[in-house]
Amino acid sequence: MEGLRSRLTVVRDRLVTAARTAERDPDALTLIAVSKTWPFEDVVALCSLGVRHFAENREQEAGPKAAAVHAALAGAGVPAPGDQIRRPGLPDGTPGAWFPSRADGPATLGSPGVLDVPVWHYVGQLQRNKARAVTGWAHYVQSVDRARLVETLSRAATERGYITAVCIQVNLDQEASPGVRPGPGVQKSLPGGENAPVAGAGGAARGGALPRDVPALAELVARAEGLVLAGVMAVAPRGVPPRPAFARLREVSERLRSDFPAATMVSAGMSSDLEDAVAEGATHLRIGTALFGERHGVP
Ligand SMILES: *Cc1c(COP(=O)(O)O)cnc(C)c1O
Repeated sequence: MEGLRSRLTVVRDRLVTAARTAERDPDALTLIAVSKTWPFEDVVALCSLGVRHFAENREQEAGPKAAAVHAALAGAGVPAPGDQIRRPGLPDGTPGAWFPSRADGPATLGSPGVLDVPVWHYVGQLQRNKARAVTGWAHYVQSVDRARLVETLSRAATERGYITAVCIQVNLDQEASPGVRPGPGVQKSLPGGENAPVAGAGGAARGGALPRDVPALAELVARAEGLVLAGVMAVAPRGVPPRPAFARLREVSERLRSDFPAATMVSAGMSSDLEDAVAEGATHLRIGTALFGERHGVP
């Protein structure tokens, strides 16, 4: 607990400093604690320190963890995942009634000691056969990068009577390493294709739609029942300075917001590059290592 507390202080200080340097309001930044590989007790502890947003990248691990967190918090009167996505006072199905958006921003930089509602984000590669399960606990699915996934998530959310917020994951690797030619996996990643795109840099399959495919995918999400288009997400390419990639993401976001003004979320920046992400307009920072320490084994 003391380790978490002191690392959280360091991360918050970094966020505030990065915001001031960029002449941005620190309260407009949302800290998402990436709790993958760490036990539910750590999530509960961070909740008690004022962190409200948590991200996971494996359904098998995250579903049970979210359930354990909610069981642990139930005594404090905290609602379960299905309850917390609707803003109190608005009737079911009202557009905008889905969950706090701007309203939960300031809480993320913290009001220590107050337990209210954890918000869960899915940030991993998503297979269609896991999509249904993910909608059972994730309020946001940040890793949507192909049309078939939109259909599957839409059906799953609708069946549950939930509204799931979606970010389009953008693949910035190709443009960051112009020497790398799109492989066959990338060609098939056009909307309607089933295969996840294959990232160019390093050859790792990390997912993401190419920037040129974002508008069509966004259109699909915006029209899909049970889904709300929240914005964009990206992971900086490996082995090159992150800032130009985040600048490109900002352009993709601006284009998206010209069509969908409410899709303001820009999820970018991790432990090592959060300053660059804030400088380029990130609204949501996904921080694992700097909060929890080094992960063992799993990426
Ligand atoms: C693990 C992970 C993070 C956090 O990375 P750190 O370097 O540990 O801060 C952020 N985003 C995604 C998609 C991840 O999988």
